[in-house]
Amino acid sequence: ESAINRIAAGEVVERPASAVKELVENAVDAGATRIDVAIADGGKTLIRVTDDGCGIPPEELPLAIARHATSKIDGSDLLNIHSFGFRGEALASLGAVGRLTLTSRAEGHDAAELSVTGGKIDPIKPAALSRGTVVTLRNLFFATPARLKFLRSDRAEMQAISDVLKRLAMAEPSVSFTLRDVSGGGEGRVTFRADAVSGDLFDALRGRLGQVMGREFVDNAVSIDADREGIRLTGLAGLPTYSRGAAVAQFLFVNGRPVRDKLLIGALRGAYADFLSRDRHPAVALFIDCDPHKVDVNVHPAKSEVRFREPGLVRGLIVSALRHALAEAGH
Ligand code: ADP
Ligand code: MG
Repeated sequence: ESAINRIAAGEVVERPASAVKELVENAVDAGATRIDVAIADGGKTLIRVTDDGCGIPPEELPLAIARHATSKIDGSDLLNIHSFGFRGEALASLGAVGRLTLTSRAEGHDAAELSVTGGKIDPIKPAALSRGTVVTLRNLFFATPARLKFLRSDRAEMQAISDVLKRLAMAEPSVSFTLRDVSGGGEGRVTFRADAVSGDLFDALRGRLGQVMGREFVDNAVSIDADREGIRLTGLAGLPTYSRGAAVAQFLFVNGRPVRDKLLIGALRGAYADFLSRDRHPAVALFIDCDPHKVDVNVHPAKSEVRFREPGLVRGLIVSALRHALAEAGH
C-alpha cells in the first residue's frame, strides 16, 4: 500500500513547487483570506502553508490524508468540478513522500493534529491553533533518494515555488499571500507579498496583476472582457509595444486554475500575428471561465493541461476579443 502510494505520489509531487501548489490550492478551496507559505532549503527540508480557512474537524483528519478521499465532489458528477481539488490525492501523496503534519481547527471544534510519515499514520493529538489550518511537510523525498537527486539547487526550487505562488495569487486578488524563506530559522525573510485588493473586477485585477507582474505591465495593457456561448474571457492583454523576447509573461487560467496549453498559446499567437514577429511574445494574463462541462481539466494529475469541448470556439473568442481591444487602443 505504501509502495503504491509512493509510486502514485511521484505523479502528483514532482518537486517542492508541486507540493506548494497542492497545499495553496487547498487553502484557497477552504475559503482562506490569508495564506502564508514558509520554505526552508528550497522546500527540501520544510514547506509550511498556514491559512485562515474553514479548517478540518478532528474526526475528519484521517479522511483528509486518505487516498481518493475528497470532501469536494460526491463522485456522481466527475465533470462538475468547481473547486481546485477533485482528485483527493494530494495529501495522501505528500504523506507518502515526506513527513506531513496537519494542524487544524474548524469552527465549533477543538484544534487537533495528525502526522503521517512515509505513509505511516500517527495517532491524532490535541493541538493549539486559533483557526484555520497549518500543513507542514518536512523532508520531502527523504524516503526516495533517487527523486531527491533530481531536485535542483535550493535557489532554483525556491524560484519555482515563487512562480507557482504568483500564478495562484493572480487568480485570487481578494486573498493575501506571503512567501517567506525560513532557511535561517525564525520568522525568515519575506520574498513575495501580495496584500488583498478589493474593488470591482478590473480594479481588483489591475491591483493584483500590478503586485505580481509589475505596474509597467498593467499600465501598458488593455482590459479584455468578452463572452461567447457561455465562455467568458477576462483579463489584461499587453500592448504590442510591451512585448517580450521570450514567452515569460503569459499567464492563462481556466476556471481559476493556472494552465499551460498549446491551444491557448496558439490563439495568442493568432491574436498578435499582425503586430509581433515570431521572436516577440505578448505579455498577458487571461482568465477563461465557463461551465465545467465545457472543459476537461482532468488530463494530467499536475492539472495544468485542459481540453475544451469546442476548441474552435475558445480560439475564436480569444483572437477576436484581443484584436478588438487592441484596435480600440489604436493598434
Ligand atoms: P482534494 O483537494 O482533491 O479534495 P486533498 O488531498 O488535496 O484532496 O485534500 C483532501 C481533503 O482534505 C480536502 O477535500 C479537504 O476536505 C481537506 N483539506 C485539505 N487541506 C485543507 C485546508 N487547508 N483547509 C481545510 N480543509 C482541507
Ligand atoms: Mg487538494
